[in-house]
Amino acid sequence: MNTKYIFISGGVISGLGKGITTASLSAILQSKGYKITAVKVDMYLNIDAGTIRPQEHGEVFVTDDGIETDQDLGNYERFLDISLTRNNYITTGQVYNEVLRREREFEYNGEDVEAIPHVTDEIIRRIKRAGEMAKADIVIIEFGGTVGEYQNSLFFEASRILKMRNPADVLQVHVGYMPIPGNLGEMKTKPVQQSVRVLNSMGIQPDLVVGRSERSMDRVRKERIALFCNVSEQDVISNPDVSSIYEIPLILSDQNMGERILEKLGLKPGKKDLSPWRDLVKTIKTVEQEVKIGVVGKYFATGDFQLEDVYISVIEALKHASWTQNLNPRLFWVDSEKVEEEGAEKLAEMDGIVVPGGFGSRGIEGIIEAIKFAREAKKPYLGLCYGMQLATIEFARNVCELKNANTTEVDSETKYPVIHIMPEQEKLLIGKEYGGTMRLGAFPAKLVKGTVAQSAYRKDQVEERHRHRYEFNNLFRQELEKNGLVISGTSPNGHLVEIIELKDHPFFIGTQFHPEFKSRPLKPHPLFLSFIRACSGKS
Ligand code: GLN
Repeated sequence: MNTKYIFISGGVISGLGKGITTASLSAILQSKGYKITAVKVDMYLNIDAGTIRPQEHGEVFVTDDGIETDQDLGNYERFLDISLTRNNYITTGQVYNEVLRREREFEYNGEDVEAIPHVTDEIIRRIKRAGEMAKADIVIIEFGGTVGEYQNSLFFEASRILKMRNPADVLQVHVGYMPIPGNLGEMKTKPVQQSVRVLNSMGIQPDLVVGRSERSMDRVRKERIALFCNVSEQDVISNPDVSSIYEIPLILSDQNMGERILEKLGLKPGKKDLSPWRDLVKTIKTVEQEVKIGVVGKYFATGDFQLEDVYISVIEALKHASWTQNLNPRLFWVDSEKVEEEGAEKLAEMDGIVVPGGFGSRGIEGIIEAIKFAREAKKPYLGLCYGMQLATIEFARNVCELKNANTTEVDSETKYPVIHIMPEQEKLLIGKEYGGTMRLGAFPAKLVKGTVAQSAYRKDQVEERHRHRYEFNNLFRQELEKNGLVISGTSPNGHLVEIIELKDHPFFIGTQFHPEFKSRPLKPHPLFLSFIRACSGKS
């Protein structure tokens, strides 16, 4: 069978949940026995998402092979339960970079190098490569941004050309927004009709139209979209707001979206088994007993929306672990700068405390105070990357009495640099080589027998994903261990500290890596699971 390609575009507004629609459709087709891979194309000129500030871009998701990507790849991984690679993430920057390299190396043999076909062909080459590398039957490609923007138009053009060359192998799905204006109280289809017109003007006819809306779409509206957008009524799919994103595969599947797509691609309908999703959604809707988690960080200034975006993998990992324990996670956002002003006592109401990854000096004294509180009040604590480094600093300062111990990221003059820059990173920073140069991606860690970490994982060696430039300073290892800090995971050669923990505490773990990237809704991460169990009093 030829590899098939499904392009997913968005219309009317951004923030539609196009990524979740893409991930959900991927899960449906996977459940029918097809090998799926999902690709995000982003329109910005950055080579990757690593250099974009969190408030602007949300979370930077890291793959096993160490590319810093858009958070949508996290959704694809969670919904498909597969690991993606750098082939699954394409930006305008990567595409132009390659075209310009080839031009300089005379690979175009003196031709005029043009947006069409040279840039579009490079986009197509990358999309095909993603399919080949994953040995996928179906490649699902999500366009970043909305139809009609100048910035992403070459990606649309590439999809048109791919379909023109392989008419039977390419589908276009358009996801548009259907508002229900307050003064009318009625769902409107015109914005979607118009965004489909914009697509049409680019030479693209959608094969299916998905209507995102507050409520389900009725028959009348489906008929209108069908009539004006030139699709059959069965190919108009309603995608209403729901309380959990994990319900979307079921909603789309109940409207036969998978069957319609496979029929259009000339593929067998396959079996469908979404029962694990049904069970999960049932749990999500029925869990009552709450577990209260305080997440202490600094990226809280721009309002709730951005906040969720910045920590999305951490939030999802906490949910996955809680649901399997029949608990309803309630997350509280604790602004570390507020902790600096008001102290950490409010955290007493929490069942557990999480400090996610971060950079720089703003708010870190508040985080250290929160960690001190967790250690002394014996609140379960999970520190992720910066959360591990700051826990090391807290222990050095307050248990080992190394006054003003710090990370050199914050205080380059500190007398006790318990966290310091990795030697190879220092050279990169001096040369201003910032992009894609952190310690990135999956590295093995060996676990020490008899530790909490080892009993959580039930393994002696694990692979986890990293994104950092600083590390535990081995000059202080003895001193900290003598005072009771347990180093429960290191790189296989023992040199690099990967996990720290405390004895005589219900649960206190810090990881140099980001376990949240590998948590899946149906397979929670072992460290998050142990943390949540400790929060609920189980161990
Ligand atoms: N800022 C720290 C470092 O670079 C931690 C990074 C992180 O939390 N991802 O090492």
